Amino acid sequence: MTNRTLEILLGIRNFYMNDCLFCKIIAGQIPNYTVYQDDHVLAFLDIHPCAKGHTVIVPKKHFADLQQMDSRSWSECAISIHKVIQKIQAVLKPDGMNIGMNDRPVAGQAVPHVHWHIIPRWSGDGGGSMHSIVRSKNVGEVKELAQLFVV
Ligand SMILES: [Zn+2]
Repeated sequence: MTNRTLEILLGIRNFYMNDCLFCKIIAGQIPNYTVYQDDHVLAFLDIHPCAKGHTVIVPKKHFADLQQMDSRSWSECAISIHKVIQKIQAVLKPDGMNIGMNDRPVAGQAVPHVHWHIIPRWSGDGGGSMHSIVRSKNVGEVKELAQLFVV
């Protein structure tokens, strides 16, 4: 790779990073209500919460989606996510939580920077489980699908 090619690629990367809402929040260009942060993630309250304490966790390194994320970053974020969960539990004391993510637009990802949602839950809040996200009629035969995952 030539230096010129590298400059062009870095320019493209910076363009997209500078245009990223979450990168701007991480950089402090947009304020947030921080719940937790460490070297790997920033966790902040969602400004359009689904429930009291709805928190968004973003890696400090930009990845558009999970396919772009390396294993090391995944591992670091997993440890940090656990810490965020513990903090929310200690502060808000919910009865449970939904922890999940929308990976890529078809799954509802609105900001192209990997992020997880933690939605605190309380008894009687009227919410559903992860199973209520989609109920597709075209699910295939489980036994046939299992053959695609032979280990
Ligand atoms: Zn970003």
